[in-house]
Amino acid sequence: MNQAVKDFLKENVAAENLFWNEPMDKHTTFRVGGEADALVCVTDSEMLQKIVSYMAKVSQEFFILGKGSNLLVSDKGYRGVILDMSKGFTDVRVEGNTIIAQAGASLPQVAVLAAEHGLSGLEFAAGIPGTIGGAVVMNAGAYDGEMKQVVKKVTVLNQTGEEMELDNATMEFGYRTSIIKNRPFVVQEVVFELEPGDPEEIKKKGAEFNQRRRDKQPLEFPSAGSTFKRPEGYFAGKLIMDAGLRGYRIGGAQVSEKHCGFVINVGNASASDIYDLMDEVSEKVYEQFGVKLEPEVVRLGQF
Ligand SMILES: Cc1cc2nc3c(=O)[nH]c(=O)nc-3n(C[C@H](O)[C@H](O)[C@H](O)COP(=O)(O)OP(=O)(O)OC[C@H]3O[C@@H](n4cnc5c(N)ncnc54)[C@H](O)[C@@H]3O)c2cc1C
Repeated sequence: MNQAVKDFLKENVAAENLFWNEPMDKHTTFRVGGEADALVCVTDSEMLQKIVSYMAKVSQEFFILGKGSNLLVSDKGYRGVILDMSKGFTDVRVEGNTIIAQAGASLPQVAVLAAEHGLSGLEFAAGIPGTIGGAVVMNAGAYDGEMKQVVKKVTVLNQTGEEMELDNATMEFGYRTSIIKNRPFVVQEVVFELEPGDPEEIKKKGAEFNQRRRDKQPLEFPSAGSTFKRPEGYFAGKLIMDAGLRGYRIGGAQVSEKHCGFVINVGNASASDIYDLMDEVSEKVYEQFGVKLEPEVVRLGQF
């Protein structure tokens, strides 16, 4: 990062929101990752717009961070600016059957709020530990629910810092993807359209889904949830188990014994351990079954 960018950040971001050489293991649920050159906690739209426009103008690379719950950052870190949306960009309001949430709001907390207001549609999201922005980009989903079913409108900044509104169809939601996955758009705000329902029933459904997670998933270990996408016609976890890889380990990274679809950090894993394990698992599954496992986890930095 050149001096002009450093100066810009120092001048435009309050010291308490600006971190140099920030270790990314503090910001990912895998608990791995080297240092980012700079990390900025975004607090409002004006600040976001100013930074994004400037970065575009000077061609400075940046990366938008939610809760890092689907993210593997290299041990070598990231040579750019991380814009962390999850700390100060978190306002949420309820208006009739709609919820309007800023991108950094916690998805499970919005699901709880929906339940409290007797609004149904987000029960599936009760246990997905990301932000609203990350969930929209990834079209997060579980138990037959997905963001696509409840998102009405998404306000984004485009690559030059201009605001745009995208409706549900324009978002091109697909399996764990959206139009934003491969574009440098920043999600600012999301409008959800939900259905009225009985608050107790909604809470009960969310709690049941969370219990299913606790029963089936290795939530006691750091991970990024399902490591691979579900290949059409198969289940990644079953293929991995059938390939004899249950409990298979490289360094501190392991194929979970509880749920083979999860790679977990069983203690002091490096990002390379996780990366290598993912590669080896994909290779072995392909050799045995001819099925390609694609990572669901987003990778950042040089591996
Ligand atoms: C225990 C566990 C269980 C999980 N279960 C599920 C599940 O059931 N279903 C599921 O779909 N996922 C699941 N996940 C994965 C993860 O929680 C989701 O993908 C989540 O939506 C990611 O949100 P995030 O805020 O953490 O995004 P991050 O991991 O921070 O980022 C993911 C991607 O989104 C981009 N991004 C984030 N915010 C923005 C923004 N505001 N604007 C533009 N781009 C942005 C990032 O640049 C990155 O490319 C699980 C993860 C864990 C650890």
